[in-house]
Amino acid sequence: SNTRHPTAPPTMMNSHFAPVGENPSREQYEHGIQVIDEDKEFNQHLSTYLSIEKIIPAGFNYHLISVFGSQSTGKSTLLNYLFGTEFGVMSEQERRQTTKGIWMSKNKRVSAVKDANSMADNILVMDVEGTDGRERGEDQDFERKSALFALATSEVLIVNIWEHQVGLYQGANMGLLKTVFEVNLQLFIKDSKTIAKTLLFFVIRDHIGTTPMSNLRNTLLQDLSRIWSTLSKPKGLENSRIEDYFDFAFCALPHKILQPEKFEEEVEKLSHRFREGYNDPKKSGLLDEGSLPVFLPQYHRRIPADGFPVYAEGIWDQIVNNKDLDLPTQQELLAQFRCDEISREVLVAFDETITPLEDKQAEGVRLGQPTVLAGLGPAMNVARSTILKDFETNASRYHKGVYTRKRAELESKVDTRLKALFQKQLSAANKAGVEQFSSAVSAAVKSGQKKGNNYDFAHIVDSEKAKALAKFEEDAQAVLVQGASWSTYQADLTLYKKDLEEVSARLRKDEMRRLATRVERWVRSRLGESVGLEFNKLGTGRGGSGAPEHGDRPATEKDLWDRIWAVFTETVESAEGRFTDRARSFDASPDEVEVGLWRLRRKSWGVLRAKIDEEVMEGNILLKLRENFEDKFRYDESGVPRIWRPTDDIEGLYTKARESTVTIIPLLARFKLAATSAPPPLDAWIGSAPASTSSADEEDLAPIGGVDEDEGKSLEEEMTVLNDTKMQDLLVRFKKTADGVYVEAKRSAIGGMTQ
Ligand code: GDP
Ligand code: MG
Repeated sequence: SNTRHPTAPPTMMNSHFAPVGENPSREQYEHGIQVIDEDKEFNQHLSTYLSIEKIIPAGFNYHLISVFGSQSTGKSTLLNYLFGTEFGVMSEQERRQTTKGIWMSKNKRVSAVKDANSMADNILVMDVEGTDGRERGEDQDFERKSALFALATSEVLIVNIWEHQVGLYQGANMGLLKTVFEVNLQLFIKDSKTIAKTLLFFVIRDHIGTTPMSNLRNTLLQDLSRIWSTLSKPKGLENSRIEDYFDFAFCALPHKILQPEKFEEEVEKLSHRFREGYNDPKKSGLLDEGSLPVFLPQYHRRIPADGFPVYAEGIWDQIVNNKDLDLPTQQELLAQFRCDEISREVLVAFDETITPLEDKQAEGVRLGQPTVLAGLGPAMNVARSTILKDFETNASRYHKGVYTRKRAELESKVDTRLKALFQKQLSAANKAGVEQFSSAVSAAVKSGQKKGNNYDFAHIVDSEKAKALAKFEEDAQAVLVQGASWSTYQADLTLYKKDLEEVSARLRKDEMRRLATRVERWVRSRLGESVGLEFNKLGTGRGGSGAPEHGDRPATEKDLWDRIWAVFTETVESAEGRFTDRARSFDASPDEVEVGLWRLRRKSWGVLRAKIDEEVMEGNILLKLRENFEDKFRYDESGVPRIWRPTDDIEGLYTKARESTVTIIPLLARFKLAATSAPPPLDAWIGSAPASTSSADEEDLAPIGGVDEDEGKSLEEEMTVLNDTKMQDLLVRFKKTADGVYVEAKRSAIGGMTQ
């Protein structure tokens, strides 16, 4: 198949460089390089040679000339004079073939001063084995193959003939030209547009001068037309003209042996024609003026110099294997091969910069500490623009379509890696930013707490958030990559904002807890005072309304729970107000506030309940009962202390006072309101848990009987302050205490009498 890849053995993978281990030198290539040897093998060191001769980096700035002609017509001699080459030349004594296969050498005649007549840069000359039947027996095969090779690569074919051969239509030269035309047509079958024109430069040797140059030229042109007309042309090219494919130029040289000085003079003149010409349509066609430049742009094969070895080898491979030469396909294959090679080469520098950064990032991720890499942005920008520029410089000379595709491939390869770096950098910036934000807010709150809790939480969050966003944008800006469409951070910024919101919400929740704790503490201290005060009132047995009547409790005793409930609900209401104001100041949501208040009411109830338990603790309550009793027993209706006399009804007073105090005990035992004789509406007052309550919100809440129904404790039980046993116990102890007081009174009455 003719679509196979140009063959490239391993040594050519780095075609810019000489094979390792050898020490190639210019001296080694003194006579140029045998590109194709007598066994039709392609030389694997062509790229080495072109490197040594500094052709490889030349791009399109090089030229290739091949020389054709019969054996021993002075071809090598001419080239050596013209280009300072050292191709092997037959000695004048032995007459045997010297040039075998195809040799190549760089022009060694370099003008010291560049002027309009200076030879072009980087001229490569191919000296093709003589094409005489005599040289290879009847083997026309090599002739065809070398002609095809020369045509596929060379801009100019020098056809070297003796003057006396001109007009000998049956001569060996004509056979050669026929071959050249045939193989040329073969090249055009695939695509006539992409194949360059070739200049056929006839150098007529041993020109005696009797026949004018113009006659010789006309004779040759007639012969060429005749040959062209006899060719069987491929389908579609039947009407093609020879001028469609070839330009012609002619030059005559004197006899080298007989007129050596004139010969050299004319060669010198001829050398001036191997200079750059410009694409002037007037100058194409017949170049017979004898001074027009040889190298016109339309002759150039457009194979970049660094791709030439691979291309030439691919061409030769196809020719040797008798495959159809398909130059456009060859050029595409070459482009693919070279573009891949150039990609690998330019990736080396890219890797040098980028791989360590990738490793550093990966290490951070592995340790769970993604880091924001300093200098990442500039490194990425330089690496990206450098690699794309380098690729463009070297690869854009190749087939446009292939180049464009390969450039896109390289760009996407590079961008995949850069994008990963970019993304990881942004997520590191995100993580670091969120952490910094969180700790900055916490630190500000802590310092605010130290200064007396008068800090503005919302302001702290807002200002830290603004700082965090600015820092993130700064980090993101610093890693933007010029010219990369993926290099935008809007989505990341949105994500970052969302993450900050989440952290803010968490911090706000913490702040809510702190606020709740503060408010609860305030409730505890207020209730401690006011509830204590209410219980202390029990110590006095004479309420506002004169003498206590049996069954008619003083207001202080009867309304105890009403007053406690009232003071409790007022206190909590005020606490709720404080809580709500403060929570709103830092943008807590209505739901959050609602949950906070619900928790506050529950916790406050717990505080109250604990305070009540403390008040009714045995020692405390017994003391108060005793005080209450003593107040009733030892003071008369007007509050004057009694001096006991034996006539007094001590026993009656005692019984009355004791019974009155005793009735306080069942009153204390249950928290109930006087009006309804029922417990306060605690469940309704607390309310059910708001819909947005989370399990975390409920975690630290003690169950409340009658409110948390599934706790299996009723409201009655929740409101039981003293159980029967305790009541009984308290009663017994109180009576003992009262008895003691009575005995003491009795004694003092008797004592008072004896005095
Ligand atoms: P090639 O086989 O075509 O490369 O021919 P060579 O360059 O090896 O030369 C073959 C012989 O022709 C050598 O002996 C040269 O000295 C001789 N020769 C070279 N140039 C000329 C020339 O211009 N005229 C004549 N008559 N002989 C030449
Ligand atoms: Mg030769």
